[in-house]
Amino acid sequence: MNIESLRLVDYRNYKEIDISFCKDLNIIYGENAQGKTNILESIFLCASGRSHRTSKDSELIRFDKKSYYIKLKYEKQNRSSQIEIMYEADQKKKIKVNEIPIKKLGNLMGNLNVIIFSPEDLLVIKEGPSGRRRFIDITISQLRPAYFYDLQQYSKILAQRNTLLKEIQKKRSLTDTLDIWNCKLANTGARIMKVRHEFIARLNKFVEINHDRLAGGKEKLCIKYVPAVKTSLYEIYDIEKSFKNELERSLAREMIKPTTATGIQRDDYDIFLNDVSLKQFGSQGQQRTAILSVKMAEMDILREETGEFPILLLDDVMSELDDIRQQYLIKNMENVQTFITCTNIDLFKKIDDRRKIMYNINAGN
Ligand code: ATP
Ligand code: MG
Repeated sequence: MNIESLRLVDYRNYKEIDISFCKDLNIIYGENAQGKTNILESIFLCASGRSHRTSKDSELIRFDKKSYYIKLKYEKQNRSSQIEIMYEADQKKKIKVNEIPIKKLGNLMGNLNVIIFSPEDLLVIKEGPSGRRRFIDITISQLRPAYFYDLQQYSKILAQRNTLLKEIQKKRSLTDTLDIWNCKLANTGARIMKVRHEFIARLNKFVEINHDRLAGGKEKLCIKYVPAVKTSLYEIYDIEKSFKNELERSLAREMIKPTTATGIQRDDYDIFLNDVSLKQFGSQGQQRTAILSVKMAEMDILREETGEFPILLLDDVMSELDDIRQQYLIKNMENVQTFITCTNIDLFKKIDDRRKIMYNINAGN
């Protein structure tokens, strides 16, 4: 899979720009605040329907303008395709794939597969669980659009259940109606939990291989799924039952604090190195190696599943990695279309000119 070209109109600091890309390494360099990340962001947006930096589309419109437009042409399994995104302030975002409007965001997923790696990812191990859930959810959603749809459904049900809990505080007789929402939440939540569990098991195989190569096989890296609902994760029926039971047990707590006390919105992942939690004890170097191994493992899975490597977006991470990890990353970029942003191009001078194109970005030009 590779991106052929990108057109941006009134997107961030770009007035109007058309860029063609090469199939190997695209190096986007320039000083700070020139628009390098904005390019990667627009590519990520075409893959997932949302920015990796903000949930507000209005922030993406060029200052003082009313709309933005993106057109991305790509090749997948030897077929040319295109994705277009149009957004006008205060309106619903319009997305087209090969000129056909997409009704649900979930239908965009899986067309263009990308893996994005940015400095914030390096913090994911030590920071809060929401970042870790997002980290994993993005990749699963690309592989399983139905999973993304379930996530959206779940958050709607959750919001409705939370509203009901607040109403119950004023009117206790409503408590009986909670059961319907418990069933809905447990049903959708159980599907999500099962996919999370299976994905992590699969990811671990590749994580171990990548980490061995990167760290010399001295320590074993393993991700553990830590669901908020304690249950056996093999049968959907068991998960759903445990989920419902747990909700019923939480009722007393929820009467005091009217918000859903358990569920996938409280799930977490922990990363272990030889059975020691990196969250608690990992050095910075160990965490970086771990995150890089997970990113590379995600690439392997997408490759295994789709038959093609996803597109790799590296936002400013090179300077954050030491020499060994930089070389590992560069080696892994072979046969993968890669977009790198950086301020210093020294590292890439050695790479054959036939394998790369350099783009100097200066104030949106
Ligand atoms: P760094 O090296 O610091 O990461 P960068 O080149 O990646 O910088 P970007 O994040 O891509 O920088 O772009 C930042 C620039 O885009 C800033 O100058 C900012 O003012 C501008 N910018 C961001 N949003 C908008 C917008 N909606 N309209 C116009 N300009 C914007
Ligand atoms: Mg940047």
